[in-house]
Amino acid sequence: MRFELESLVRKNVRDLKPYSSARDEYVSDGSQKIFLDANENPFDNGLNRYPDPQQRELKGALSRLKGMNSENLLLGNGSDEILDLIFRAFCEPGSDNIITAPPTYGMYKVLAGVNDLENREIVLKENFELNTTSILEAVDSNSKLICICSPNNPTGNCFREEDVELLLQEFKGVLVLDEAYIDFTDKGSWIRKLSEYPNLIITQTFSKALGMAGIRLGICWASSAIIEILNRIKPPYNVNELTQKAALDRLSAGDAFSGQIRQIVIEREGLIKALEDIPFISEVYPSEANFILVRVDDADKRYRQILDKGIVVRNRSGLPLCHNTLRFTVGTEQENIRLLEVLKSI
Ligand SMILES: *Cc1c(COP(=O)(O)O)cnc(C)c1O
Repeated sequence: MRFELESLVRKNVRDLKPYSSARDEYVSDGSQKIFLDANENPFDNGLNRYPDPQQRELKGALSRLKGMNSENLLLGNGSDEILDLIFRAFCEPGSDNIITAPPTYGMYKVLAGVNDLENREIVLKENFELNTTSILEAVDSNSKLICICSPNNPTGNCFREEDVELLLQEFKGVLVLDEAYIDFTDKGSWIRKLSEYPNLIITQTFSKALGMAGIRLGICWASSAIIEILNRIKPPYNVNELTQKAALDRLSAGDAFSGQIRQIVIEREGLIKALEDIPFISEVYPSEANFILVRVDDADKRYRQILDKGIVVRNRSGLPLCHNTLRFTVGTEQENIRLLEVLKSI
């Protein structure tokens, strides 16, 4: 099926000229200059200058780490900002629709609401796989985005590769694939298929495996044509200097986070086994993320009992297919031991 990017983009965005900031107009060539262009305070305190609006150094480091090209990369104030940019670039308020596959991340629905878009919810199959037939049946000429998340939050599974591939092949709009948890699975990222699929956008984040939820840094990989469109509407200084520095430090600290990821995965597998022996847990779902979804006898009651013992978990019972489920984030070894003690005691 033919994918025509220009016709998918909102008309006002197609015609938009982005705001050109001082740091967009003059790009440092590394030589010493006197900067009298941006009305900054000239007294150096390390943060008196505006940050690089294109985050070149950070994008370079991240692209090298992932074996990708900087022109396929956009950074944002969390993946939440990136999703917001995608929605605003493609979806005409009041007339367009998006397709989501609950139970899933709540942000897609919120953004549909904010942008006055119909959210066509095609619930996953009982085994938490995509219902590709129903998804493709729900598509009409106003369907701009399909938003899915793999590994999926809160179910923890990766979707079958052939299902994602089918959507990419059959859908004329944009498939947004949220890979917030991709570092916890050995299924490879879809970024390796980016050049094959011009209608694919992949989002990732510094908030989970990279251990930097506090700095708010989201990652977006897509064709250079899509990245150019998102750049047109992004606020010029959307990633602040402190965030850029902290992210660079984290990436250059070598493999600190790889060891943590390995440890979290080992803890996850241990926790899954141990949870199977808890009498009031009837089902422990396999997980390729850093959390585990379990089904219990009475989620509200168990949630309160666990909270009374000082542990905060997430009750996911309100979501489709998730009646009486709780979601446990995998913690440190000590935290997981404590969780199991608490579960055994109640
Ligand atoms: C946690 C999470 C994110 C992270 O969002 P940030 O804004 O980058 O912190 C994105 N998508 C999913 C599915 C998540 O669970």
